[in-house]
Amino acid sequence: MSSVEIRNLRKSFGTLEVLRGIDLTVDAGQVVCVIGPSGSGKSTLLRCVNLLEQPTSGQVFVDGVELTDPDVDIDAARRRLGMVFQQFNLFPHLTVLRNVTIAQQRVLGRGRAEAERIAREDLERVGLADKAGAYPGQLSGGQQQRVAIARALAMNPSLMLFDEPTSALDPELVGDVLTVMRKLAEDGMTMLVVTHEMAFAREVADRVVFMDQGVIVEEGPPGQVIGSPRQERTQTFLRRVL
Ligand code: ADP
Ligand code: MG
Repeated sequence: MSSVEIRNLRKSFGTLEVLRGIDLTVDAGQVVCVIGPSGSGKSTLLRCVNLLEQPTSGQVFVDGVELTDPDVDIDAARRRLGMVFQQFNLFPHLTVLRNVTIAQQRVLGRGRAEAERIAREDLERVGLADKAGAYPGQLSGGQQQRVAIARALAMNPSLMLFDEPTSALDPELVGDVLTVMRKLAEDGMTMLVVTHEMAFAREVADRVVFMDQGVIVEEGPPGQVIGSPRQERTQTFLRRVL
């Protein structure tokens, strides 16, 4: 099991300072949910954690290994992290099974039989064992997102990052994806989750972080941050989304 530590993380795009000194820790086996208005820097934070964006300054540690160390093997470091986006980005011309095996074979060098065995286990885990032979276009959005989760799990990440995984889904499809995420949390996966699903955050998160304008305004147990927020900005945000 894995932990994440973010220290004084800053990120600017030109003159726009999007992250203005973020300090955040996710302990091994914990779930931290990040909430906040659109444009507050939530996606940029996740993208800096897995180095899809280069932080302007600050440090990111996973299991005590500094990912932001210029001498670190970025590809090896990034392999510890699974990422699930709002858009599922499956290959439409490949079967579900192949979508889940391709990176295992190409990136991890697993043989086909092993990759397929692992893919079938992870498809089982997300409740889609029977869809291995289907193509993404034959699946609902919720099923496609669960394939994307299986694809990430198949790489054996020690930590999962989710960026609004249910925001692109029709409301009736959200529940199945959240159920899979809840199960992952119960299995002890370390998770950093950007979400607008307040009920999920309340129930599953060990801690909730409210971000606005590139800073963490408030953080704590969900009952506190969502249930009785102390900061005016948090209260205003929650009034709009709840
Ligand atoms: P959130 O996920 O909370 O909605 P983002 O992290 O996506 O916020 O964006 C925060 C701010 O950074 C926004 O003003 C956005 O326009 C800006 N931004 C994000 N990515 C880039 C980029 N690659 N280049 C320039 N500006 C960006
Ligand atoms: Mg975002």
